[in-house]
Amino acid sequence: MSECLFCRIVAGEIPADEVMRTDEVVAFRDISPQAPVHVLVIPTAHFVDARAMSTSDPQLAGNLIKAATDVAAAEGLEGGYRIVFNTGDDGGQTVHHVHAHVLGGRSMKWPPG
Ligand code: AMP
Ligand code: ZN
Repeated sequence: MSECLFCRIVAGEIPADEVMRTDEVVAFRDISPQAPVHVLVIPTAHFVDARAMSTSDPQLAGNLIKAATDVAAAEGLEGGYRIVFNTGDDGGQTVHHVHAHVLGGRSMKWPPG
């Protein structure tokens, strides 16, 4: 059994509120939403972060961003949204399986904390 939380969600060992699933990606609602819409989009393959995924499989990286935009459209975020890859310790990453945060449904501030 994998020790990676998100690999376990991919495997169905941990329940998640899924909004999209293909052979390549899974999207599910964040357990601690920071906006009215807060969905995580992950590859089914394990990569620790966006660096590792982009280096090893740039096509997958592109497909993950496309999936994130599809989720945003399905969630009705016509007015805009934010896609975030927290990457590494200084990036604030806490789960070490690459994931795109899709955040929307409110006006976002800049700069982020
Ligand atoms: P990050 O800090 O960028 O690594 O983001 C990890 C995200 O995963 C956080 O926003 C958490 O709220 C979220 N998270 C942690 N555990 C779960 C879970 N079991 N289901 C859904 N989201 C989770
Ligand atoms: Zn994993």
